Amino acid sequence: MTPLREWLKPPRYILPALFAFAVVSLCALAWFGWKWINQERIVDAQRAREKLEESADRVAAAMRGALAETGDHLSAWAMAPPPSGKPEDGVLLVSDAATLTAWPPARLLYYPTASGDPEAPAALFNDGEALEFQSARSSATLVEVADWYRRRLATANDPATRAGALMRLARVLRKMGRTAEAMAAYSQLAAIPKVRVAGAPAELVARHALCELSATRDRDACEALRADLLRARWRLSRGQFEFYYGEAARLSGSAHPPSPAALAWSDIAAQVWEQMPRDPGARGQRSIWVDGHPVFVIWRGSAGRRAVLITTPELLMKPALAGLDATGAAVDSDGRLLTGKLKPNAYAAVRTAAETQLPWTIYISGTQIKQPTLEERQRFLLGTVIVMAVFIVGGGSFIARAIRRDLEVSRIQSDFVSAVSHEFRSPLTSIRQLSEILALGRVHGEERRQVYYETLVRESTRLQRLVEGLLNFGRMEAGVRQYRFEELEAASLVERVASEFQPQIADSGHSIQLEGAVDSCPIDADPDAMAVALRNLIDNALKYSPLCPTVWVGWGVTGERVAIHVRDRGAGIAKSEQRAIFGKFVRGSAAAAANVKGSGLGLAMVRHIVAAHGGEITVASRLGEGSTFTIFLPAAEAKVAKV
Ligand code: ADP
Repeated sequence: MTPLREWLKPPRYILPALFAFAVVSLCALAWFGWKWINQERIVDAQRAREKLEESADRVAAAMRGALAETGDHLSAWAMAPPPSGKPEDGVLLVSDAATLTAWPPARLLYYPTASGDPEAPAALFNDGEALEFQSARSSATLVEVADWYRRRLATANDPATRAGALMRLARVLRKMGRTAEAMAAYSQLAAIPKVRVAGAPAELVARHALCELSATRDRDACEALRADLLRARWRLSRGQFEFYYGEAARLSGSAHPPSPAALAWSDIAAQVWEQMPRDPGARGQRSIWVDGHPVFVIWRGSAGRRAVLITTPELLMKPALAGLDATGAAVDSDGRLLTGKLKPNAYAAVRTAAETQLPWTIYISGTQIKQPTLEERQRFLLGTVIVMAVFIVGGGSFIARAIRRDLEVSRIQSDFVSAVSHEFRSPLTSIRQLSEILALGRVHGEERRQVYYETLVRESTRLQRLVEGLLNFGRMEAGVRQYRFEELEAASLVERVASEFQPQIADSGHSIQLEGAVDSCPIDADPDAMAVALRNLIDNALKYSPLCPTVWVGWGVTGERVAIHVRDRGAGIAKSEQRAIFGKFVRGSAAAAANVKGSGLGLAMVRHIVAAHGGEITVASRLGEGSTFTIFLPAAEAKVAKV
């Protein structure tokens, strides 16, 4: 029956099986982990999509609300002016049949349409102007012309005619060099509100002329004119604004350009007004492109009176996106981007204009889907998978090492058992055969019987040494071996051990040559233990040098130590094995290959003994050239000297 130990012994194929198991487990773990994480990602992406769809609905609803609210405000503002500062974004134009007003008032520097203020017809001044024209050619006196305009002024009742006459009178007076009178006329003209002369507001024309006449003395007046132009005091056309603003800046000496935003809004309003449908209806909205920029126009009112808000598409989009973790974009029916950002590779929730009743199609996209980041849970999962993988790899390699060691130990043990049994068998067989022959009385002749007795003694001594060696080694390993130190000469120790070998080597043709120092080499040692160590080294040297039968044993002092060496010219030991051979049950490959008997215990025992003496053992060897084992022991005198 197979013993339990054999059952428990790991089979040889366990290592590859374990390795395969670890690899398969790891692959399975990695696959499951990957699937698991991927699943999580898909769920997260799905959740993010749902969130985006929700956000898109909320944005659309918010925009619809904002649009309705803006429409309500516009309806109210068509009837009554908006409160100051309104609208906050863009510009509001309120128009009726005759007038067009912009809110907030200073947001437009010039208007899209001409002012509706009255102006006296030029025909009223035909005669005066004809006279003025002749005076330039025929030197008719300007005094007459001035009188003509004065008469016209005296008879004029309506402010427009008075303004026309005053403007012309002041002009003639300027030509005559009567600056003070001209300025007085301009001052009167400046005081007439809401009339036009030569197409421009009378007050502006007069104040500009006054500035020109008194530029050197009255810069403040010119600065005030510039400020009034920036405040949009008059309704001017673009050309008028540019001319008078340039003049005011020149005369006041100020180089400040008007604000780019105000200029831009004025320009946008002018272009939008031009593109507006002739009869737009009571309510409506549309996107208009001005110089490549989108503008959103929304209007309310009746045919007679209408409020038009010109603004940017952000007006609706921005507040609707506030507080949402998403980015939005609005696209018009031609696919042009009006506001926001379109992310090309990201998922976006789309709401078409038809679905939402909004003027644009809306795209809402989030950041999470485009660049999925590892969420905390995913990181935890990944961490778990990695920890499990580390455990499998670590555990697998630990078990593999343990099994390998176990296999190695069992191999060494079985090698040892077979080697030792072989060692035992040969002396035992000879003892048994010889003693049988002797017992049966088959040996004739005293001489021959003597040889048999000697052989019996030799073989039993060998057997005893073997048993003692094993017992000694067992004691050493257990740490219970007792050493009895005494001072002895290295030379006498070596000579004693070498002489023990004489009967053994006499027949085999081997020889041991001693090459010791003449000086005394005293050591403190257990003579029996040291003899065992030396015997092992000499025995090995003889065993492993079959072709060169001489073995050299020497001794000497090196520094404070005594060195005893055993040299041979035998098989030698590979460099890679020179450390390992001092381990128990370890045999060299050359020894095993040459089928030399041994247990692998000799050198381990030597190392133990030498270490117990406070010394060390070294080996110098080359494969095929021989080996030298040297035992270094503290010299006895040196020891005394140290104490
Ligand atoms: P073994 O019983 O095998 O001789 P040892 O412990 O005495 O065991 O030696 C261990 C190994 O060291 C040997 O198996 C052999 O390979 C190697 N060895 C020891 N001494 C010598 C030597 N003098 N020459 C070559 N190899 C040696």
